[in-house]
Amino acid sequence: MLLRVIVGYLFCVGLVASLSAAQAPMLASELTTRYAPYANWQSVVDVDALAQRSESRYWRTAEEIALQRGDSDLPLAGLHIALDPGHIGGHWAAAEGRQFRIAEDDFYVREGELVLAVAELAQAKLMALGAKVTLLREAAVRVNPNSPLDYLELAAEQVSPPNESSLSALWVYGRAIRARAVHLSIVKGDLMERARSVNQEVQPDALISLHINAAAWPTENESEASESGSAMLRLVDANNLHVLIFGCLSDEELQAENQLEQLAVKLTNGSGPAERLLGGALATALAEATELPAARYRRNNAILLSSQQPYLFARNLLLLRMAECPTVLLEPYVANSVGAYGRLQSALANRAAGRVLAEDDILLEYAEAVVAGVRACYGQE
Ligand SMILES: [Zn+2]
Repeated sequence: MLLRVIVGYLFCVGLVASLSAAQAPMLASELTTRYAPYANWQSVVDVDALAQRSESRYWRTAEEIALQRGDSDLPLAGLHIALDPGHIGGHWAAAEGRQFRIAEDDFYVREGELVLAVAELAQAKLMALGAKVTLLREAAVRVNPNSPLDYLELAAEQVSPPNESSLSALWVYGRAIRARAVHLSIVKGDLMERARSVNQEVQPDALISLHINAAAWPTENESEASESGSAMLRLVDANNLHVLIFGCLSDEELQAENQLEQLAVKLTNGSGPAERLLGGALATALAEATELPAARYRRNNAILLSSQQPYLFARNLLLLRMAECPTVLLEPYVANSVGAYGRLQSALANRAAGRVLAEDDILLEYAEAVVAGVRACYGQE
């Protein structure tokens, strides 16, 4: 009882993660194996200074939440999860590069809309288990209040003017500025606004960002493409799964002051081990539900954290870096693969016809795996 009172008091004043000088070697090891494994971090990060930092945090660990839970409470009582349906969808889907279909009478596959459907299914199931769930967006609309028009000036600064003064060069220049302004608003600006609202307003115990992966389109035989006049989209064979948590900064990224500060916060606020646990639980649940093989990274922009958990990688993505709470990004399925495309079409057809979801509905499978992973990490059985 006394412990519960103390924990309750801590929640009122905000939690503080304090390290000690003795933990500098642990920080060095984390940098070498997870946060900057391919970079010369020793030249920019002072682990002794980092070990003196105390970082406040708004989120609670699974143990802290469980301490406040009564025996008769629901299994996820007390937990506050934020779900981020990745991207936007709707009329932004094409500009996001997150929209395709193989045949003209197929449904458009729009990642932003598919993951919103997953988030809504997962939300209902998590709430039924006692969790509080906040969706970072509830429709196919921007989270960022600033529209592309608000970024025109910045976009113009970032696009080089044409070398020649022809009308066609001016046309290309105008289109490049427009594309840059759209990107700044709906991609970078939207991610920054999501991270800001997580840290300042939602303040959940953990954030789960929902995505569906896609592979680069196979390049057509050039003569075929030119004969037909257009490149036919062809599905790929590889369908796989991977899960991401923060880490793997490059030398260049370590040179950016804001990234270095965000790294310091994430390294010292205790989110590292917590998101590794949640990431592992979600990876295991998704692997069991989908039976997909693990994706692989061919370049040094991500690192596999353990051979025991082949699905969990560390990668330096904006949301993973900026959200201070434990944050996990999910990438199950390759949408343009032979294995996933047909299932996505069936899921979209069922929804368009207002039919009951099929038992093997791919979005339901995804949502149920999210719930199973959250339950394995935070639940009380
Ligand atoms: Zn995505």
